[in-house]
Amino acid sequence: MSLKYDIIIIGAGPAGMTAALNCLRAGKSVLVLESDTFGGQIALSPRVENFPSYKQTAGAEIMDKLYEQIVDWGADIELENAKSAVKTGKKFVVTTDYATYECTSLILATGCKHRHIGVAREEELTGKGVSYCALCDGAFYKDEDVAVIGDANTALQYALLLSGYCKSVHICALFDRLFADKALVDLVKARDNVDITYEIELKEFLGTDELSGLRFENTKTHTEHFVDCKCAFICVGQIPQNAPFKELVNLDDKGYVIADESCVTSCDGVFAAGDCRTKKIRQLTTAAADGTVAAYAACAYVDKINAEK
Ligand SMILES: Cc1cc2nc3c(=O)[nH]c(=O)nc-3n(C[C@H](O)[C@H](O)[C@H](O)COP(=O)(O)OP(=O)(O)OC[C@H]3O[C@@H](n4cnc5c(N)ncnc54)[C@H](O)[C@@H]3O)c2cc1C
Repeated sequence: MSLKYDIIIIGAGPAGMTAALNCLRAGKSVLVLESDTFGGQIALSPRVENFPSYKQTAGAEIMDKLYEQIVDWGADIELENAKSAVKTGKKFVVTTDYATYECTSLILATGCKHRHIGVAREEELTGKGVSYCALCDGAFYKDEDVAVIGDANTALQYALLLSGYCKSVHICALFDRLFADKALVDLVKARDNVDITYEIELKEFLGTDELSGLRFENTKTHTEHFVDCKCAFICVGQIPQNAPFKELVNLDDKGYVIADESCVTSCDGVFAAGDCRTKKIRQLTTAAADGTVAAYAACAYVDKINAEK
């Protein structure tokens, strides 16, 4: 027999835990499922400076407090990977590696993972000179030399942002061209402190405890190319974690759940919050904001279904 909840939330990052807080405060029974780390991606960030009211803190600290908060409000939380979710009649059945749960409404807050470049020591140096988010970490490298690894719009936006306060920005592109909007390319090329090197492939992160540089290989000549930098911003795409739910809700061609600011998805009763949905800005505060919106929508849906009984 499976346990029944008003609302199941898949993902315990900022979106999922904020959703849980609001659902619990509205008197709903809530199960939060997390497959990996409570706190989500932000728990990986040792320095967060853009969360309102905190001058500087670790992402894990904010998330630990939020975790305590939802436990205090009575959330059931399981460290289980949600493998699938299906709608049967007026309820949803969520299957994990260990159990089956039922609920009236479902919130997907599965986030996404930055695509890693796959070079040795990448994980070890994350937060120590390897970053996936210039908006989040760029300001730590004011007046320093930095590199951006990537060749598309986000990489160039990062380069533009960083060129405003970093000493130099080295764009490292794998192919012989950039795959970005012309206007953006023109803006970047007009910056005196930005240079672009084409046809180079990253081979090694240099530095012992912190990043000090990068070693590339030229894909045509096979010669070595070195870039001195304090930080490498890796910008080679993101992978949304929505594959298990592709039969339940509509995803876009990149795998994000199609949902706007209302967090409403193509499936009645399922809401999507945070980085996992289609949106422009993927950050801590926008994830938390979605958590609130999705929570109110899910609570209203539960009330409607209960009123129909
Ligand atoms: C290194 C780093 C530094 C960052 N720094 C900043 C910063 O300084 N400021 C800022 O505003 N933003 C920062 N960000 C971005 C910010 O972390 C994200 O925008 C935010 O965490 C998104 O929250 P979320 O809840 O939508 O998703 P996530 O944080 O990705 O959380 C989703 C959770 O769902 C879980 N999950 C996924 N699939 C399943 C499943 N099938 N079953 C169960 N659980 C599942 C995942 O394990 C994860 O814990 C940073 C990101 C990174 C990677």
